[in-house]
Amino acid sequence: MALSSQDRHDIAINNACLFDGLNVRTGRFNVGIRDGAIVTVSEERLAGDEEFNVAGAWLSPGLIDSHVHLFDPISCVDEQSMNTYLDDVLPLHFQSFLRYGVTTIKSVGDPVPELLTIRERLRLGVCSGPRFLMTGFGLTAPGGHPTRTIYGRNPWYQKRAAGEADSPEAARERVAEMAELGVDAIKLLYQGGCACHGGEPDYRWHGMVPINRLKRPVMEAAIEEAHRRGLKVTVHTYEQDRAIEALEAGADGVEHGIVGEDISDDRVFELLLRNDATYVPTLWVYPTPEAHRNVGRVAAAGVRVALGTDSFSPTIKVEGVDAGQYGSNSIVEAQRMVKGGLSPLEVMRTATVQAARHLGRDDIGSVAEGLKADLVVFRGNPAADIENLWNPSLVIADGKVVSRGGSV
Ligand SMILES: [Zn+2]
Repeated sequence: MALSSQDRHDIAINNACLFDGLNVRTGRFNVGIRDGAIVTVSEERLAGDEEFNVAGAWLSPGLIDSHVHLFDPISCVDEQSMNTYLDDVLPLHFQSFLRYGVTTIKSVGDPVPELLTIRERLRLGVCSGPRFLMTGFGLTAPGGHPTRTIYGRNPWYQKRAAGEADSPEAARERVAEMAELGVDAIKLLYQGGCACHGGEPDYRWHGMVPINRLKRPVMEAAIEEAHRRGLKVTVHTYEQDRAIEALEAGADGVEHGIVGEDISDDRVFELLLRNDATYVPTLWVYPTPEAHRNVGRVAAAGVRVALGTDSFSPTIKVEGVDAGQYGSNSIVEAQRMVKGGLSPLEVMRTATVQAARHLGRDDIGSVAEGLKADLVVFRGNPAADIENLWNPSLVIADGKVVSRGGSV
């Protein structure tokens, strides 16, 4: 029988158990993809130009990592080294994300000209990679983090990746600059580095470099300006008091959250809920006991949590932190959230539907008709046991098969 155009699919995935982004569904499902979109979710077997009978394996929305940095401030020191990185290294990193089922990433602070280059290359299909969102630079204080810390010894890189503001007017200008480039959100750094020494506004990056923090009115002006332009603002915090101040100013998300102390003030929960804000714990980079406990408590309070790792270029090691590997770090993050007290089902939501909400993208993060076809097949159910996230057997990004981990 000839298929009607309604029935024709580029790809059909048949006989799958389903985690749809929110829930584990009962029964077996067949998912049809056409022109990059999920067009059919059915209990009837589907026909496609390419068909996968996955025989009871688990279909999930593609994973989303909401907090990554893609470039390398150690090796990219001039035009030539940056071009080598762009041409030869970054495509491998993109493949690594895809291999582990990460089909969407958000850069929250990288060199701006190169972000625009990769956005264009991905759009044109010059290279393949995950769906790509960006904030442009991270907005920080003059002499703040990461200008004086991670980028401290690389002035060439610093100029391309850091946005600094020391007055409300300057903050508004910097936000406008990013908005004009079509960024997906604004990122502010409202904290120093890691080991914080009393006496504001200076903090220390692992006890080595004194760094400044955005003044509170500057932070507030940046958030107001971004909101005026319809952009969400996510704020790098570390301490409870800074998180409260950012949320009082209207922040839509906190990156890292509260890392070095247990949450002791209920306003953290109240303000996160009031703002409909997202908590992005980045346990991969800050695996402190307090950070683990805090994400469990935040989730239990009903706050949206989104998976984000703070993965950075694997050639960098900061104070002995092993940079791991793009994509596999996202799975380590999921494991750590389980350690923090979230159920595997809750963690799967943080990596799919909740992350999509955090990014303001209702066209990804779920398996449903009409959404982008970003899909992963796992042999076991990751919403029951997070270890099943390792080694996906099939990854589809934007309607194309991008990785096959073996027989499916
Ligand atoms: Zn970061």
